[in-house]
Amino acid sequence: MPDLSVPELLELDRRHVWHPYGPMPGRIEPLVVESANGVRLRLADGSGELVDGMSSWWSAIHGYNNPVLNEAAREQLSRMSHVMFGGLTHEPAVRLAKLLVDMSPDGLEHVFLADSGSVSVEVAVKMCLQYWRSLGRPGKQRLLTWRGGYHGDTWQPMSVCDPEGGMHELWTGVLQRQVFADPPPAGYEESYAEHLRSLIERHAHELAAVIVEPVVQGAGGMRFHSPAYLRVLREACDAHDVLLVFDEIATGFGRTGTLFAAGHAAVSPDVMCVGKALTGGYMTMAATLCTPRVADGISRGEVPVLAHGPTFMGNPLAAAVACASIELLLGQDWLAEVKRIEAGLREGLAAASDIPGVKDVRVLGAIGVVQLDHAVDMKAATAAAVREGVWLRPFRDLIYTMPPYVTGDADVARIARAVCAAAREG
Ligand SMILES: *Cc1c(COP(=O)(O)O)cnc(C)c1O
Repeated sequence: MPDLSVPELLELDRRHVWHPYGPMPGRIEPLVVESANGVRLRLADGSGELVDGMSSWWSAIHGYNNPVLNEAAREQLSRMSHVMFGGLTHEPAVRLAKLLVDMSPDGLEHVFLADSGSVSVEVAVKMCLQYWRSLGRPGKQRLLTWRGGYHGDTWQPMSVCDPEGGMHELWTGVLQRQVFADPPPAGYEESYAEHLRSLIERHAHELAAVIVEPVVQGAGGMRFHSPAYLRVLREACDAHDVLLVFDEIATGFGRTGTLFAAGHAAVSPDVMCVGKALTGGYMTMAATLCTPRVADGISRGEVPVLAHGPTFMGNPLAAAVACASIELLLGQDWLAEVKRIEAGLREGLAAASDIPGVKDVRVLGAIGVVQLDHAVDMKAATAAAVREGVWLRPFRDLIYTMPPYVTGDADVARIARAVCAAAREG
């Protein structure tokens, strides 16, 4: 097939290619990206470059075409891009597991490598349900979460996504019925803590686990909450024999100003999921970590194995890049970079509060959010950002940014201007 012109490519895309959360055929024309370098996406239509305010859904923390990550991929490619993980092992996977165990909250010692965030949540849920089954308590098979969350698009994760934004109605009777607490308030409120405690106590006999995104709820609404609620969950779970799962897929690797958001409360979960920034945005890989208590529990059961093993489990190429990404992160003063971006976003987004239709402006770590009092006009808001030279992907009533940590001050300011422009026109 000869090279495709941009119009040909768009026509074939519209006819044949599903896009995320999209109809078929597509109705909104995507931008065609030709290459990406640093924090910039180069468009194929010759219109130039856009500063990426999204880090490709929060994953490309070190920017694109990064020489260190490229070299790790090249090096691994020349050895082997993949071998099966059943009965075989290799250095990239072993090193990655060790790095993850060393950097994550205390107590998490075992690592299951999965191929996407959603699968890592499936594995986390399977671990928790199997743990209780192995201990002779198969009735403990429901999950508790708070509203406003997002945990992925496969069935178990969908069942704990926010029931309003998560299309629960479409899937009534199909999705597992889980226990939902109210959405966590931004600040600490004792009455909300009490609400969590009493729900956990009331449902403990049927709960396998509580699963939440710590401190920041991402795709469910970009909401922040007091880390003190994590301690409330930890204590209530311990008191009532319920496992605690933190989904750090969005918050992991420094995004909120601590390596993992659990660090804001110095709380360790029993099970933790990571993904997104794990490979620096190079390829798909995620991981589920658990404590020896969970692993031992499973191993004592009638079926003493965790029956899960994706074909591409532990993919060496992804694991090698993940190792390089983590070493690159830890080898620099990443906190200073995140704080620098936080300060830049605070300054640049301050003006947004005065824009008519803006309900709230919030910044935490390298996350900046402008919430409107109405649904965003996606097309108008995206176009306004593109006119400022920035790529943003607003959703629902939210215009937000999660830039790569390598975004320079001038580009952070530019992203903030674009968020304001999008808020004005969206
Ligand atoms: C993105 C995300 C997921 C799903 O990860 P995928 O790799 O898209 O399957 C799960 N949980 C959280 C918190 C996420 O942000």
